[in-house]
Amino acid sequence: MNKKPVIGVSRCLLGHAVRYDGDSKANTVVIEQLGDLFELVPVCPEVEAGLAVPRPPVQLTGSIDHPRMTGRNVPGLDVTEMMLAYCNSRPAELNQLCGFVFKSRSPSCGLNSTPVFINGECVTETSSGLFARAMTTVYPELPAIEESELEMQDKYQQFIDDVFQYQ
Ligand code: SF4
Repeated sequence: MNKKPVIGVSRCLLGHAVRYDGDSKANTVVIEQLGDLFELVPVCPEVEAGLAVPRPPVQLTGSIDHPRMTGRNVPGLDVTEMMLAYCNSRPAELNQLCGFVFKSRSPSCGLNSTPVFINGECVTETSSGLFARAMTTVYPELPAIEESELEMQDKYQQFIDDVFQYQ
């Protein structure tokens, strides 16, 4: 029997309560449909980097190209170095993956949907989270999709085809 391709998934999409607010973002397309086709490997960059659940929410700030990850509501909170250290080491351990489903808008996991703030102003809403940047830099050919694109039938089907092709 052929082995199912293995893909990574932002862990909160699998219904695991790892978000900053102690909640999850269970996605039935991921769990029921992609879960039938692929072996799913849950990855939560913020928890794996050492942040707690629940935790103060963070956002990307200061620069679009080289943002920092700072507290949304807690002045002085800066977890940039912790997250960058994680992002420098973790992708190499995920070399068995044939694709990745990222959580939209997250400062860690957003693929093309993460806001960046400079001096309190939102300067873009189409940036990428720090972990998504790291994964797409280390694996530029890796099929990748974000949660918000799963409803777009053409992108969804393309992702599935690309994963089988990549395998
Ligand atoms: S979006 Fe990413 S970092 Fe945030 S809870 Fe989900 S898996 Fe963890």
